[in-house]
Amino acid sequence: MSYGELAALKEECGVVAAYGTGADLPGLLYVGLFALQHRGEESAGIAVSNGQQIALDKGLGLVSEVFSMRSLEELSSIRPTLGIGHVRYSTCDGDDLAHAQPFIVRYLRGNMALAHNGNLANTDELRREMEQNGQIFQTNSDTEIILNLIARYRREGIVPAVQKALGRVRGAYSLVLQSDNTLIAVRDAHGFRPLALGRLGDGYVVASESCAFDAMGAELIRDLEPGEIVVIDENGLRSERLLGELPPRHSCIFEYIYFARVDSVIDGLNVHEIRRDLGRILAQEHPAEADIVIGVPDSAIPAAVGYALESGLPYEEGLVKNRYVGRTFISPGQSLRNLKVRLKLNPNRHVLAGKRVVVVEDSIVRGTTSRNLIRLLKEAGATEVHMRISSPPYISPCYYGIDTPYEEELVAARHSTESIRQMIGADSLAYLSIEGLLRAVPGGGNCLACLTGNYPVL
Ligand code: SF4
Repeated sequence: MSYGELAALKEECGVVAAYGTGADLPGLLYVGLFALQHRGEESAGIAVSNGQQIALDKGLGLVSEVFSMRSLEELSSIRPTLGIGHVRYSTCDGDDLAHAQPFIVRYLRGNMALAHNGNLANTDELRREMEQNGQIFQTNSDTEIILNLIARYRREGIVPAVQKALGRVRGAYSLVLQSDNTLIAVRDAHGFRPLALGRLGDGYVVASESCAFDAMGAELIRDLEPGEIVVIDENGLRSERLLGELPPRHSCIFEYIYFARVDSVIDGLNVHEIRRDLGRILAQEHPAEADIVIGVPDSAIPAAVGYALESGLPYEEGLVKNRYVGRTFISPGQSLRNLKVRLKLNPNRHVLAGKRVVVVEDSIVRGTTSRNLIRLLKEAGATEVHMRISSPPYISPCYYGIDTPYEEELVAARHSTESIRQMIGADSLAYLSIEGLLRAVPGGGNCLACLTGNYPVL
C-alpha cells in the first residue's frame, strides 16, 4: 500500500482457494484474504463446498468487516472440503453487493462458484451474443459472463467446459473456480496477473500472491504458467492447458514496482529484492548531491533503501505514516486530496530540517500527491528536495486489470520531466530508465504497456 502517487492506481482483485486442507477451511481462506487485502478493499467473499452443498458469504467492506466468527462458523458447518475467496476493488462494473465475488450458479449438474482477478477485452461482444440467445444477466460483471459460458459447456466435463469457455474470452485474468468436487485455477494465456500454487499438509492452496501462503502456513510450490489450468480433485493435482497456441508471456511488471506485497515471490522473484534493486539502479543512473535518502511509505521504502545503499547516503525515516487512517471519508475532489496526504503522512522535522533530501517514490501518476509531498518536506525544513522515481514515466492507461486514471490525467503522458519538476516544485527530478527496470527484473516476458504505450494484442 502506498500513500504516494500510486494510490491512484488500484489493483482490481485478489483470489485465494483451498482444497483438502482440513477442518477449518473457511478460516484458512479468511486468513489468506486478509493477507491479500491490499489487492481490493471494497468487498470480500468466500464460497465453500462439501461435495453436495455450496455455502457463500460475501459483503461490502474490508475482510475484517465482512466476516465474523459466527459467519465463518456457519460456512464451516457444512464441513467443506474445498473453497474459494475473493477481495475486490470496485471498478466501472459496479460497487454494490451484487458485484461482490465469488459468484455462484446452481444448475442441472450441481453447483459452481467462480472468482477472478483481471479485465476481459471482449465482454460487450460476448454479452450481446449471450443475451440474444436468451441469457439473463444480474450484473455487469465479467465474472458472470465467464461463469455462464462454463455452465453452457458443462455437460462435456468441467475441464473441457473451462477450456471451451475461456477459449472465447480475450483479456487478462487469473481465476479460481469450484464445482461440487473439483477446484480449478487458471492463469490467462499472457500471464498478465499473478497466480501461485502452494501446499498445506495433504491439501493444496492457490492465491494471487504467495504472501497469502505465509499467512495460511502453506508452502509455495510454484507460480502457474501462462495458459495453465490446474485441476485438483479426489485424484490429486494435474495440469492442463488452455486450447490453442499460446501468445508471448506478458506478466505485469507493476506487480514488482508497486502492487504486490514486498514479502511475495512472483514468478520466482522476491518483490522486496526487486524493489531494492530498482533503487540501486536508480542511484547509478541518477545520483544526487544530498545529505539523506527517504522513501514514500510503504511501497517505495525498499527502493529508497536500495538508493541509499548504492549512493552511500544515509537512509532516514523522513516520512511517518499514520497506520490508523484506513479508509478516509474524503471525497476525491482535488483540494481535499491535499488534505488526505497530510492525514496519512507526517514529515519528520527532526530528520529533515536543514537537509538536502532525496525522496524516492515509485511513480508519478497525476503529480498532485508529489507536489503536496514536496511542499510538506520543505515546510518541515528540507533545504532541497530531489525526487527520484523507481520506475519509468507512467504514460498510458492499463487495460489488463488495473484501474488507472484517464490518459489526460496522467501527467507524464502530456508533460516533459522538466515541466513536471517545475509543477511539483522539486529541485531535481529523474526517473528510472526502461533499461534500468529490465536490469532489475530479469527473465523478460513482462508487460510494460503503461510505460511504453505498446499494448500486447489480445
Ligand atoms: S499496462 Fe502496466 S499495469 Fe497494466 S498489466 Fe501492463 S505493466 Fe501491468
